[in-house]
Amino acid sequence: MNSLLKISPLMDASTAAQPQGFALKLMELLVIPTFVLDAAGRVIIWNRACERLTGVPAAELLGTSGHWCAFYAMQRPTLADLVIAGRTGEILDLYDGQARDPGGTRDKLCAENWCEMPRTTGRRYLAADASPIYDSDGLLVAVVETLRDLTEEKQAQIALEQLATRDGLTGLANRRCFDHTLLAEWQRALRQAQPLSLLMVDVDNFKQYNDAYGHVGGDDCLKRIATALASEMRANDLVARYGGEEFAVILPNQSLKGAAIVAERIRCRVEALRQPNRGAPARFVTVSIGAATAIASHEQQPAQLVATADAALYRAKHMGRNRISLPGT
Ligand code: GH3
Ligand code: MG
Ligand code: MG
Repeated sequence: MNSLLKISPLMDASTAAQPQGFALKLMELLVIPTFVLDAAGRVIIWNRACERLTGVPAAELLGTSGHWCAFYAMQRPTLADLVIAGRTGEILDLYDGQARDPGGTRDKLCAENWCEMPRTTGRRYLAADASPIYDSDGLLVAVVETLRDLTEEKQAQIALEQLATRDGLTGLANRRCFDHTLLAEWQRALRQAQPLSLLMVDVDNFKQYNDAYGHVGGDDCLKRIATALASEMRANDLVARYGGEEFAVILPNQSLKGAAIVAERIRCRVEALRQPNRGAPARFVTVSIGAATAIASHEQQPAQLVATADAALYRAKHMGRNRISLPGT
């Protein structure tokens, strides 16, 4: 304890003599960002680490309930506020999926979320623990909230997820993400008894394109087509690079008629790029598209939807390319 006193210019002999003052100083110097609210939700401690993390000085917040503005641009409760108000059930609405009541300690909450941090240079991903303190009569006297800055870890996790699910060349969803999403959408369609449509899109005469403009030119062309496809998607649709010069589009809750409209829009969009393909009969880059729709059932597999769309694509090629084809046409 003596060594602590020596390294801290904030502590003097009188502080050490008063256990309460000493504890307060320790809290203030703790390297873990911490703030404490009283039972009325007013800030009674806002330590140095919390000042550094949020850019908001304690003097501005002590005695007020304005601590939310250190984290958020719009007023909303912090974890400590939820504990004080006994609104712990709202945690799942306000925080990311990891939010939980760890059990054991009455009303203690743990949660993680992105915070805007209006007084610093940018948003940060914070993990928070809010622990209530009760007096001997069981009355709430304060809530201690400690924070951990997990921004770097979260960003690394997001980057890894991107690597695992994105196609490196086009930035679209990759095959793995397609397989995963198709299965999830199939199960959803099954639950909701809704149709699920799929488009298989293949670039026409792309071998000739590579022969004429080189592989790097071919790669640039695939990127432009990917951007064109992505621009035609609605919020719940997914466009993926299925492999090589082939793309796949998942259209949830879409009938075959609707899928045909989207397919035709995509075909026109690529045609409108007017990208020369001097080796191809059409002279420009075009795509052929096969569409398929299923009402999901337990007897069928999503792979059958892919096979049906593939067969339609094959027919579109056979009929002369730069066209769409539906099952049975
Ligand atoms: P079709 O109209 O029948 O689809 O003819 P196609 O020439 O497009 O089809 P084919 O399957 O004969 O050739 C596909 C070509 O796509 C061959 C392959 O080198 C090229 N390709 C596949 N992936 C890539 C890629 O990532 N970059 C480039 N530049 N070319 C690719
Ligand atoms: Mg092709
Ligand atoms: Mg192909």
